Amino acid sequence: MQRIHALSAAAAVLASIVGASSVGVSAVGVSTVGGSRCAPAPAEPQVAARETTDFEYELFAAVLEGLYVDGVSNEAVDAITVKDPEHGYPANFVWACPVCMPAYRAFLTYRARPHFEWIKGSQDFGPGLDPATLDALTTGEFSARQQALMQLVGRWVERRMGLLRLTPEERAEWKLEMERRRKKGMALLADYQSGGLGGSYARMKECPLCDGANRPFQPPTRQR
Ligand SMILES: [Zn+2]
Repeated sequence: MQRIHALSAAAAVLASIVGASSVGVSAVGVSTVGGSRCAPAPAEPQVAARETTDFEYELFAAVLEGLYVDGVSNEAVDAITVKDPEHGYPANFVWACPVCMPAYRAFLTYRARPHFEWIKGSQDFGPGLDPATLDALTTGEFSARQQALMQLVGRWVERRMGLLRLTPEERAEWKLEMERRRKKGMALLADYQSGGLGGSYARMKECPLCDGANRPFQPPTRQR
């Protein structure tokens, strides 16, 4: 004890000369001699409750959850992710588009879900798509397919935002981000068209996935 006391006294003297912070005196307890010098350190600044939104993930999650909740059949997923024989990319997705790619990844992830032998009856959680949507996706004209896909993705993004209970500020942030991503996607589509890629890209007026992701922010009168 005496030794510790001697050490702390020496440390206190040293601290008074060079400043407490640079001599590590707290371990030997200068509180009895240091006075205000030993006031507790201020608390760390608060970290924001939610980190910056990872929109790549949110789009992926919105589509994957939507597929499960709706119990979309493999037949419909295969029709949606079919590759265009002319340009070789997925016919309904604008390649490298920042909305289309995370969505495409979600469709492929869902399609690769395992078959569980121990489940009797339907493997899927949801009831499947309604017959009109399924028809549009599998046998419909090009524009009907695009329209059905846009509506599905719009509903799934809306659903995801509802689950996240976004604040008005966060909802505004989503809106801006989806617009920004749509612009990028449309610029890519224009490049493919001017580069003569043909196939579905030549027929696409708009990107169905980008329109879907922006759909929740459109007033009902402007929703296609
Ligand atoms: Zn897109």
